[in-house]
Amino acid sequence: MMKKATQKSLAVLLAATLLLTLFTVPAFAQSEQAAPTGEPAYIGQALYDVVQWTWGFIQNAVGKVVYDRFSQTEQTREYHGAKVVEVPFDNFGGLTLGKYIFVGRGLIGSESLLEHEYGHTIQSLFLGPLYLLVIGLPSLTWAQLFADYRRENGIDYSDFYTESWADKLGKQFTMNN
Ligand SMILES: [Zn+2]
Repeated sequence: MMKKATQKSLAVLLAATLLLTLFTVPAFAQSEQAAPTGEPAYIGQALYDVVQWTWGFIQNAVGKVVYDRFSQTEQTREYHGAKVVEVPFDNFGGLTLGKYIFVGRGLIGSESLLEHEYGHTIQSLFLGPLYLLVIGLPSLTWAQLFADYRRENGIDYSDFYTESWADKLGKQFTMNN
């Protein structure tokens, strides 16, 4: 059993994180609107990082380790405050862990892929520690195990909730809609 004081401080921490998320995500969206060049305003970028590294810590920590490994040898770029790196694999589309986006060989210039993956970075802001459970795992399963099912039933990859939601958020938060 946890001590009452521990439970109370955990509850306060959770409430504070939720409040921070509720206030910073709209602020981030607004500051993006104020910077039509596609470069997030400084405050927007700072808040994006703060929320990724607190509420979204788990997937960002894993993402940074993998990013640091590949960025030594592979091509990198920034995308609306997210960090993108190519991975040396063919038949690899995209994968996002927090603010770190991994794309397959030759795909670093694919704006439509990056816009979609950027939507996953926003899901990380919204869902925090639930990201891997609610998005990561279902999305990987859908990508890897349901290819035959999609083909046989004429269902699109982007019909799954994790993907259609990422499409929508990507458009919204890069102002590409
Ligand atoms: Zn996706």
